[in-house]
Amino acid sequence: MFIDKTEYIKYHHIVYSKTVGAENLKRADIIIVLIIAAVAAAGMAVTKIAGMESGKKYVEITVEGRLYKKVELTKGYSERVKVETDHGHNIIYIHDGGVQIVESDCRDHICVDTGFIDKNGQMIVCLPHKLYVKIVSGNEKDKDEIDAVSQ
Ligand SMILES: [Zn+2]
Repeated sequence: MFIDKTEYIKYHHIVYSKTVGAENLKRADIIIVLIIAAVAAAGMAVTKIAGMESGKKYVEITVEGRLYKKVELTKGYSERVKVETDHGHNIIYIHDGGVQIVESDCRDHICVDTGFIDKNGQMIVCLPHKLYVKIVSGNEKDKDEIDAVSQ
């Protein structure tokens, strides 16, 4: 079969264009995937930051499986809570948006050694006194507000 030079160049040019086009498309796909990944990552980070900044934090003091006290943690709030049980006593010091057990007559002193906690989900345990001090996030209403911000 005979193809003259002009036809060949035309044909070659089309093939070449198609190849470049395909490469561009692949590159565009990769870029789109990267953008989606970046946006998703940024979205998660923003949600996380929004959750930390706008979400309320509470300290829950549980003694022998029962909620003893629940207080909202704010920067300015400070209180010393003394818990007396048959097992002994603990002094819980809530301050600067966090909490710690400053005094206890328990045998292991793990609760006092745990020190200051101020992050959601963190917990101080005094096993001998069956006492838990836990930081929890806000209620369901607060969670909805965080979701609305992130959308
Ligand atoms: Zn203890």
